[in-house]
Amino acid sequence: MSGVVRVGDVLIGGGNPITVQSMTNTKTSDVNKTVEQIKRLEDAGCDLVRVSVPDFESASVLKEITSLSRIPVIADIHFDYKLAVESIKNGAAKVRINPGNIGQDWKVKETVKIAKEYGVPIRVGANSGSLDKRFSSYEKPIALAESALAQVKILESAGFEDIVISLKSSSVIETVEANKYLYNKTDHPLHLGVTEAGFGLDSTVKSSIGIGTLLLNKIGDTIRVSMSGDPVQEIEVGLSILRSLKLRRGVDVISCPTCARTEIDVEALARKVNSWVGNTDADLSVAVMGCVVNGIGEGTEADIGIAGTASGGVIFVKGEIVEKVERADLEARFRHWFKTVLSGGV
Ligand code: SF4
Repeated sequence: MSGVVRVGDVLIGGGNPITVQSMTNTKTSDVNKTVEQIKRLEDAGCDLVRVSVPDFESASVLKEITSLSRIPVIADIHFDYKLAVESIKNGAAKVRINPGNIGQDWKVKETVKIAKEYGVPIRVGANSGSLDKRFSSYEKPIALAESALAQVKILESAGFEDIVISLKSSSVIETVEANKYLYNKTDHPLHLGVTEAGFGLDSTVKSSIGIGTLLLNKIGDTIRVSMSGDPVQEIEVGLSILRSLKLRRGVDVISCPTCARTEIDVEALARKVNSWVGNTDADLSVAVMGCVVNGIGEGTEADIGIAGTASGGVIFVKGEIVEKVERADLEARFRHWFKTVLSGGV
């Protein structure tokens, strides 16, 4: 088990719940747009949010952004240690920076000094585009891991241990292999993600396989799904990965693939159920099945379910039928039972 790192009021590693993070894609200097996006991420269930800090204007507005954010804000910095120092002073709860890119030793020491003073951890790492040339003859996953470990060593030599490590490749296989190798070499918590994973379906599949495989192997402490577009989607996919691995409580919507026996619009009703769920952390499984022939049997493990019939549907709770409903009342009655079960009324 890894050590524990505190990011604001969130604990990463050491067997604490796996956290889900994302990154804003607004100009950080545009405080209104950045805070608005952070609020949407918070509402979607984001635990930690990272913002790019490419210049001093962005570092200085962090004061306002961090004061308006309910979740810890992480500053993403390249090269300029002064941006890291300024970001920490302005409330960043964690900094993503590679000490190997900062330059002279005294600059690394200065960054470490302020991070220690404010109790702020540093994430270091490597991705396919930032491999250390010393490891270029190694297999790619090992080169990735050793490149990250070289960054860790710089911080440790400066007397800093409050470290999270990330290894990212756009290849799922490289990401998995690199993290497996790294896991056996360090006690620092690991941040997982398949980088530049694309958009929509491709990103969802790559991230689910990469992150999911590692989590199933008990590797990883915090995750970020990388997806082009609205970052809220990253949180939705990240939470879904955790729920499917039973690493996060939540409502699991089960629906059948439909076939010639289907009597109701399964997809439309399953989407409705998803919209009723909101951000509840109740542990509940809900089944939407197209027919009673297989529906009740296959959905029997669910806490509540509905199966289509020629005239409407039957609603069942823990495998027992509780009501037969006409087509016109189907959605309203199912919602009623859903709320009843959600509130513990059955
Ligand atoms: S539950 Fe019924 S409708 Fe759905 S796939 Fe199975 S047999 Fe077909």
